[in-house]
Amino acid sequence: MTTLSRKITSDMMDPTFETTLKNRLGEKGEKIPLCFQCGVCSGSCPVVFAMDYTPRQIMELIKLGVKELVLNSSTIWLCAACYSCSVRCPQGVDLKQVMETLKEIAIEDPKYSRDEKTFYEKFIDVVKKNGRMDEVALYVKLMPKSTVMRNLGFGFKLYQKGKINLRPVRSNAAGDVAKMFENVLSEEVQKQ
Ligand code: SF4
Ligand code: SF4
Repeated sequence: MTTLSRKITSDMMDPTFETTLKNRLGEKGEKIPLCFQCGVCSGSCPVVFAMDYTPRQIMELIKLGVKELVLNSSTIWLCAACYSCSVRCPQGVDLKQVMETLKEIAIEDPKYSRDEKTFYEKFIDVVKKNGRMDEVALYVKLMPKSTVMRNLGFGFKLYQKGKINLRPVRSNAAGDVAKMFENVLSEEVQKQ
């Protein structure tokens, strides 16, 4: 976490950012301007300790139009979608939904790139393909080949102790999960 001490420059700004976000959120976006910076969201967030900006600070940055800091923050990727902020906000801001929409905007633009975003995308790839998480497949997707090769011996020891499964892990419901992803994506396309 940090205070907003970083110098904000004009190239980080997009005066239309709050409006764009509001429009994308539709009815749920109408409450964004009502945020009065009480900090209840930050006080309720179980993962705030790991975020670079607190949920309250993200709201402040949105209102200031500092798009670069918001979309490059770890906060949007670390949000656990627990809804604590949304149910407690005295102004009715659905901050969980704001975080989801910020993620969508960051995914659409490759210039916003950070490790948490890569992890998120690869995680979804594995679940989409296998119908469930496969830790070994995720590790191989995330790590450079040289690191995977260097750790082969350690991986084999973990396998011998039954800690990891070296065979691809695939759920019987993989087809249904893939269909679910397809349905959600086609709904998103129709909304645009
Ligand atoms: S709880 Fe609501 S009003 Fe308070 S800072 Fe968070 S978003 Fe703004
Ligand atoms: S929904 Fe996200 S931002 Fe809100 S309290 Fe939960 S983890 Fe924190």
